[in-house]
Amino acid sequence: MKIYRARYGGVCFGVKRAIEMSLTAAGKWKQVYSLGPLIHNRLAVEELKKKGIITTNTLNDIKNKKVIIRSHGIHPRLLHRLKKQEYEIIDATCPWVRKAQRYVEQLISEGYHVIIVGEKDHPEVKGLLGYGGPHSEIYSERMKIKHKKIGIVPQTTINYEALNQAVLHFIDRVLELKIYNTICKATILRTHEAVRIAKKADVMIIIGGKNSANTTRLFQVCNKYKPSHHIESADEIKVEWFRQAQSVGVTAGASTPKEQVDEVVTFLKKKFRRKKSIP
Ligand code: SF4
Repeated sequence: MKIYRARYGGVCFGVKRAIEMSLTAAGKWKQVYSLGPLIHNRLAVEELKKKGIITTNTLNDIKNKKVIIRSHGIHPRLLHRLKKQEYEIIDATCPWVRKAQRYVEQLISEGYHVIIVGEKDHPEVKGLLGYGGPHSEIYSERMKIKHKKIGIVPQTTINYEALNQAVLHFIDRVLELKIYNTICKATILRTHEAVRIAKKADVMIIIGGKNSANTTRLFQVCNKYKPSHHIESADEIKVEWFRQAQSVGVTAGASTPKEQVDEVVTFLKKKFRRKKSIP
């Protein structure tokens, strides 16, 4: 069986940077607290815990006042509170996310009503809406147009289909439409490559946490082309997925460590070493 492994699958620049910053801080203070999982990957979070990076959802748990802002960024009100209460802040907001936050602020200052295109429950989106305040909202297909000047800022990890849909919704109904393309390079490279592989492979495996939005989106994109399976680890792989298959594509979300991808590829190699295809 031929295996096509994605070059751009796995932990992205922003998550890698956040982990490195956190490990350095944990080395210095023994324990640091991440507001929400540093990486949307259960196994990786367990490993980080052993190294002193604790996940919490409440400030009450943070006894030593050492807090990590993860790559998604946070609501500016919470940032203000952390500063006021004199927390030691390790700000690992991804520079791409920070750029999106700045564009939101800029658009507001220029009198635009800001539309965020993304998932309403995603922490990055919640943060962006925080920067937009009452002059911003999340895009929905049914939204009414009440403003003449609209500024669009997409979540960094959405795909172009979602952005295009929002642009088309407004383009002929407003006086001014300003779009900042904040979809990050890691997302673009990963998605393009996943599509290219899915077109030639018979089956696709997408590795990443079930709670990872970008892994789920990657799965959805691949599934349009070939039967695809979203897994967290090699033990979820089923032989029947590969009946008649002669090739498999392997990619991973932005929060999947390289070791987890290696594990899956090694498993596939061992399992299908001598078989051209599963009858
Ligand atoms: S997916 Fe992109 S924006 Fe998000 S953390 Fe990674 S590099 Fe940054």
